[in-house]
Amino acid sequence: MIMNDTPRHATLRRRLAEQLYAKGIKNTRVLNAIASVPRHLFMNSTLEPFAYNDNAYPIGADQTISQPWTVAYQTELLNPQEGEKVLEIGTGSGYQSAVLACCGASVYTVERIKNLYVSATKRFSELNIKVTCKYGDGYEGWAEMAPYDKIIVTAGADSVPHNLLVQCKIGGSIVIPIMENNELRMIRLTRMSENNFNKEDFGTCAFVPMLKGIM
Ligand code: SAH
Repeated sequence: MIMNDTPRHATLRRRLAEQLYAKGIKNTRVLNAIASVPRHLFMNSTLEPFAYNDNAYPIGADQTISQPWTVAYQTELLNPQEGEKVLEIGTGSGYQSAVLACCGASVYTVERIKNLYVSATKRFSELNIKVTCKYGDGYEGWAEMAPYDKIIVTAGADSVPHNLLVQCKIGGSIVIPIMENNELRMIRLTRMSENNFNKEDFGTCAFVPMLKGIM
């Protein structure tokens, strides 16, 4: 089945953005992106009826498209500005990348699972979304394109990968779910100087694990 975008989908997305506003997301740029990006086109067609529910859904390879609230919340914490260079680790469906691109960022994204990388790349090109995608291990970051204004990790890590710290600009920030005392917590690191990062903790969150290597 070929899916397309319709006024009905647009209405559902606007409603989703309103729900997220009611749940505490206030950044207009982020809410506009949620109201604009056709999430149903980032999911299997059988899940189309659920695409504008605030839930995570399977995308194959034991992975999920993140819950819209999580996407909106992480994007709000990242606060991407027009023209900023953003690195995302964990392309998955490509939905989060598309939201970042819709906020005006110049997006580079890395995925470790070949099939997901291939389908996301195809999707970006079909939907004419300007996101640059790489098949690789996000623990390495993407050195050739560094440094980045902002870095976002959409899988839960045990600690902040060293390469991501190195590839972040001074004054830039990294939003990443980190395991601490057996709890995944949403952390934002802001690079204050060459060797100094300021850490903020935004509470518990749920993500699939960030795994080493490619497959
Ligand atoms: N941002 C995605 C979320 C997908 S779930 C979306 O909007 O759909 C997290 C993704 O991170 C999965 O696709 C998983 O394969 C990927 N991932 C996990 N560890 C990774 C790593 N080391 N490098 C790159 N991607 C990784």
